[in-house]
Amino acid sequence: MTLPTRAGLEAVPAYRQGLPAPAGASKLSSNESPHPPLPSVVAAVQDRLGGINRYPDMSAAALRAELAARYEVDAALVTVGAGSVELAAQLIHAVAGDGDEVMFAWRSFEAYPSLIRIAGAVPVAVPLNAEHAHDLDALVAAITPRTRLIFVCNPNNPTGTVVGADALERFVAAVPHDILVVIDEAYVHFDRTDSYGAGIELFRRHPHVAVLHTFSKAYGLAGLRIGYAIAPAEVAGNQRKAAIPFGVTDLAQTAARASLAAEDELAVRIDEVVAQRDRLNALLTAAGWPAAASQANFVWVPAGERTAALESVLRDGGVVTRAFQGEGVRISSGSSEDIDRVEAALAASATASDLSVRKEATV
Ligand SMILES: *Cc1c(COP(=O)(O)O)cnc(C)c1O
Repeated sequence: MTLPTRAGLEAVPAYRQGLPAPAGASKLSSNESPHPPLPSVVAAVQDRLGGINRYPDMSAAALRAELAARYEVDAALVTVGAGSVELAAQLIHAVAGDGDEVMFAWRSFEAYPSLIRIAGAVPVAVPLNAEHAHDLDALVAAITPRTRLIFVCNPNNPTGTVVGADALERFVAAVPHDILVVIDEAYVHFDRTDSYGAGIELFRRHPHVAVLHTFSKAYGLAGLRIGYAIAPAEVAGNQRKAAIPFGVTDLAQTAARASLAAEDELAVRIDEVVAQRDRLNALLTAAGWPAAASQANFVWVPAGERTAALESVLRDGGVVTRAFQGEGVRISSGSSEDIDRVEAALAASATASDLSVRKEATV
């Protein structure tokens, strides 16, 4: 006798977490903030620790009210979740079921295909264009009567590319109103283009747009699990039905509110991460690697067959990255010390290959 397996589960790819770093190494594999939490955030969380015998406020009313005021939307449209990955799942469950199609660009956030399958829906992956960016025309062309939701990851993980305001506006206008467009802005704080199309503005202008934000990346709260969605009323209502009760802890809600109150301090850190990202990009380019211009907190190197080689050069230098074998390596922006390590690793490998070339020449 064997235990039952739910039909369809065999098609669900397992999520692969970024590799842990050995002691003393730089963990640039999960796009986390390299900075420890702000003292004010730690203090706020510590202050609430004595209350963890109680359930959290399931509606996260205080946090949602603050977010609603900031974006000037009705609090009923704001939903919190245990990370925006939970919210992505809620949104899928809210609009799609057995056999329905959910579309996204590929490569993009690795969680999308599994979340879609778990909902019983069918993932439809539309290849990125030659510039590693969303091919919006191809996404529109791939719409079928079964399409229920389209994710646009902006900036895109793992390539760091952005869709500008005009292109996104045209895209959203071209998608029929009975399909939900979800703009996943996990990395929006790191964008430095002047043409970025903010998801919230599209949300205001169109009836079929939802926006996903997380406290995991720019706000440095990946370990506490909290994010939020802003969605049309009927979708937000159905998201709440799909949510797991009490998924967002009081400590996470507290940390999120303390972070919103400390945004000036966080902005300085975000600027540092952006500066190190641009430095990382320049170092890779100078070393002959095809680094793609990035507006996120990481750099994508479409190294193709040389993916394993780049991964191991960096690993030998004490830097753990996220490699997609045969495609490329995603390297998170870190502290200046982290990127110093990348610089040293690239220099060491240049010296090593110099030596081996000379050795070959003398053989
Ligand atoms: C990291 C990430 C998220 C957010 O994850 P959390 O669940 O909030 O930690 C969402 N979308 C993308 C594209 C990401 O890379």
